[in-house]
Amino acid sequence: MKRTLPGLSWPRLSDEPIRVSCHFCDALQEAPRLLEGDAAYCIRCGEMLYQNRPRSLARATAFSSAALIFMILAHVFPSITVDSGGMRKELTIVEAADALFHEGNALIGIVALLFTVVAPLTLMGGLFYVAAPLRFGKAFPGALSVTRLFLLSEPWSMLEVFLVGILVSLLKLGAVGDVHLGTGFWALVGLVFCTAYAMAGIDRLELWDRLEIALHDKKS
Ligand SMILES: [Zn+2]
Repeated sequence: MKRTLPGLSWPRLSDEPIRVSCHFCDALQEAPRLLEGDAAYCIRCGEMLYQNRPRSLARATAFSSAALIFMILAHVFPSITVDSGGMRKELTIVEAADALFHEGNALIGIVALLFTVVAPLTLMGGLFYVAAPLRFGKAFPGALSVTRLFLLSEPWSMLEVFLVGILVSLLKLGAVGDVHLGTGFWALVGLVFCTAYAMAGIDRLELWDRLEIALHDKKS
């Protein structure tokens, strides 16, 4: 049976009434579907129960695509340049991990690559893959698995730690020679902000519900 779903209203798909309990006063109450921009409030204490954030999918799509562009820039351009005694050394993220790998610290090299390349790419690539078609009520093949994968990768994306690492190494390398921050570093800053905004733009519950609605529509 094809059900008409009013716009991008959220949450729930189930026909039975869904109940939610208030996080503040524990009052159990029915959870209505919301139109975009609306919020549901507790009948007893008036605190917000949940909300259908305006343009949440547009925000997630925009920031994840911006993050992917910053990611390319961060890998193409060097993050750090050291001038010392007539020598000039430029280092990109991958080169930094590679240097660690070849200088006997293979494990740290692999871990650095995982935290700064693999996990952020999975996170932002996955969010874009899922959120972009969802804006039109569609789900690409494997959207459920992709969502699981990128949500699992979230805690492992540690670009901000890497960013602090660069700043610390800047202080240390300052004694050796002239150190400059390159385009790659600023792209990395942009990437960290876009990743944070993309993940804050939409909550997990909303994403799962919207996916379920899109997959339900596909089947019927
Ligand atoms: Zn309450």
